[in-house]
Amino acid sequence: MAKKSDQRTPAEKIFLVFFFPAVLAFYLIYKYPNWFVGNDPQDLLKFHFLGKSPGFWYNTIYTAIIVGTCIWVLTTDKNRYQRSKKKGGLSSYQRKKFTSILLVQLIGFYFFPSVLPGLKQEGGFFNDPPKISAKTAHVYVYPAVASVGKGIENGSPASAGGAIYMFLVIPVAVWFFGKRYCSWFCACGNLAEAVGVLPWGQRWVRLYTPRGPTAKKLEIIQVICLVFAIFFGIMLVVDGLKLFTATTTISALSAIQDFVIDFMFGAVIGVGAYPIFGTRVWCRYGCPMASGMRLVGKFSRSKFAVVPNDKCKGLGLCTQACPMGIDVAAYAHKDKKPIEVAFGLNDTPCIGCGGCIDVCPVDALSFAPISGRENSGLAIVSKD
Ligand code: SF4
Ligand code: SF4
Ligand code: SF4
Repeated sequence: MAKKSDQRTPAEKIFLVFFFPAVLAFYLIYKYPNWFVGNDPQDLLKFHFLGKSPGFWYNTIYTAIIVGTCIWVLTTDKNRYQRSKKKGGLSSYQRKKFTSILLVQLIGFYFFPSVLPGLKQEGGFFNDPPKISAKTAHVYVYPAVASVGKGIENGSPASAGGAIYMFLVIPVAVWFFGKRYCSWFCACGNLAEAVGVLPWGQRWVRLYTPRGPTAKKLEIIQVICLVFAIFFGIMLVVDGLKLFTATTTISALSAIQDFVIDFMFGAVIGVGAYPIFGTRVWCRYGCPMASGMRLVGKFSRSKFAVVPNDKCKGLGLCTQACPMGIDVAAYAHKDKKPIEVAFGLNDTPCIGCGGCIDVCPVDALSFAPISGRENSGLAIVSKD
């Protein structure tokens, strides 16, 4: 029988009754407003509140949750992963991570995309024009590929910023730092990281994150998403270069991307299923960029690794803390005897959040220094 502390509280149950329908309704209005009102752009104004669009309010609530949580974590200065009271303070790694999340979200993902354009627009800040939001937030391919076209058209590399970011900046970052992009920087990851340290979020990660062999096999879904993303990207290039008229194919692919991948998987399941599958279901099974990073990680010289030591007592808390469902304890001990097997991006979908390290009450885990695990003499095998 589940422990009393593991059962959902009445308040959480009430929250759950409203949460999923609210997420579904909100994303529908955000991404498909024409399903509710006519095709006249002026009809979209019916969804504006105080003159601001649903997109603005969506990002405001999203950012408020992240920023509020980061401020709470940083000011209370407690180790939010540790369940015993033994190891109290926020580690320097977590302090840096939550500071990065706070600044990146507030400036990079809120001020620039949601506040600055409003300050510059005609008619004033509280007078957003009617506009349907882009349905590409989670897939990245469309804006990246489309920006290549813009760069060629304008003769300016700056216009190809999306492509430079996706095809150069991220692979280089992975080359040096592993997949920490996902726990320090990404807008989707920022919400997962923030919710994952809240009291309910911690339980969602610990109790409901899919783990084990079936969960591992299901990672194939992410490869399918990557293959789709690559195919869609190629078709966009072909269409942009007018090599043949691919309009019908593009429309069909766009519809699949918009509805199945971006809306249903990335938004409704990716956020709405936090209380059912933990906070990283999209990151582990959907995000094609994560698949791409893992691919780059296999060939890069990244020294990223989580390293167990001989203090492991086989308590298994590290596995429960991992939002990506990695069986961390299987690398740390066998039958409660330390085995000291390091793992990194080559072996697992680890995003370097550090939760497993901070939850361990006996300090049996650490990150390998960026300077190298090949030289550390650690065994590295693939288990997860
Ligand atoms: S897996 Fe994808 S969505 Fe998740 S944090 Fe990484 S880049 Fe962002
Ligand atoms: S590394 Fe720490 S938390 Fe994980 S099994 Fe060993 S003692 Fe337990
Ligand atoms: S293995 Fe540890 S650092 Fe990696 S994602 Fe899981 S909890 Fe985070």
